[in-house]
Amino acid sequence: MRALPLNFREAPVLDALSWNDWRWQAKHAVTDLQGLDKALKLTEAERIGAMRAMAAGLPISITPYYLSLCDPLDPDCPIRRQCIPRAEEALAVKGDLRDPLGEEAHEVAPHLIQRYPDRVLLVATDRCGVYCRFCTRSRLVGDGGGARSMRALEPAFEWIEAHPEIRDVIVSGGDPCLMSTQRLSRLLRRLRSIGHVEYVRLATRTPVTLPQRITEELCRAIRESHHATWVMTHFNHPKELTDQATAACARLADSGLPVMNQTVLLRGVNDNPATLEALFRGLVRSRVRPYYLLQMDPVGGTGHLRTPMRRGVELMAALQGRVSGIALPRLIVDTPGGLGKVPIGPNYVVREDRGVTVLQTFRGDLVECYDPPEL
Ligand code: SF4
Repeated sequence: MRALPLNFREAPVLDALSWNDWRWQAKHAVTDLQGLDKALKLTEAERIGAMRAMAAGLPISITPYYLSLCDPLDPDCPIRRQCIPRAEEALAVKGDLRDPLGEEAHEVAPHLIQRYPDRVLLVATDRCGVYCRFCTRSRLVGDGGGARSMRALEPAFEWIEAHPEIRDVIVSGGDPCLMSTQRLSRLLRRLRSIGHVEYVRLATRTPVTLPQRITEELCRAIRESHHATWVMTHFNHPKELTDQATAACARLADSGLPVMNQTVLLRGVNDNPATLEALFRGLVRSRVRPYYLLQMDPVGGTGHLRTPMRRGVELMAALQGRVSGIALPRLIVDTPGGLGKVPIGPNYVVREDRGVTVLQTFRGDLVECYDPPEL
């Protein structure tokens, strides 16, 4: 068992059994300034941020496990920056949006969002183990609704049934793994009953923030409920790849569940090549495929965490050739308004002229490549 955060070290009844119980972790999530004060030496900016978060906006919730990864003395700790509110969240920045992906405008049935022709996103719950300060759905996570009942989700299932072009359902939230295993199984089985849904993606940050949740029982239940389930997780920093987190990823992989990762580019957290390289290499070692590196959505209150567009391109250029292809995600901008994802990246085509393309390699060499003759 790793070291406990300051406020849990003194808990008289805490033992490994409790620490490794996901329900204990969820129940003891820190949700207020007093809890943060016991665990960390807060800065004034964090204190102001916490007071504001408690009064309005995106609430605070941090599992004891994830809090234990925070450096209690360093406000620039990359874990701390992801979960502790700051005063800067009150700053309005040009381009800020409440609903950056235009999900409300793309809601086709209650809790169901369609932005692409062949897939939909199901908002199954508002709860998460940790409320990340950069969350795209900060407008609705932690809104108090909890897990949506099967009855509340039935209109969404019926909409999917009536649309045979839908092949892919992303079960998201909030974090669907915060639901009970039984409820999640029922949901997945209901989706399996819709013949044209070929596969399901389970979007969960629990391998990162609450790895105790990824029990063998849960993995088995997911497999049995919908055999074609892909787990989409969300590691942002190598510090998150703890023994517990990598064991959770191993349990998923050993159960036959493919695991993919989306990393959000965060200023001061992972916006440098060495950090991303360590993260992507660590993910592949854990049998998790780095899938997307996402330019952060311009959700209100996150201007201090966002990076300029060119930074992502520079980072991809620095990593190209330095890490193997399976460790290199695509850099993606999810365009504001919900108009769709756009892959961006360095341009390696220097010139195209009369059947000759000049490419620049990662070492800077220029190479001529010839088109085949026209037949
Ligand atoms: S776990 Fe996902 S949905 Fe929940 S707060 Fe974090 S980013 Fe948002």
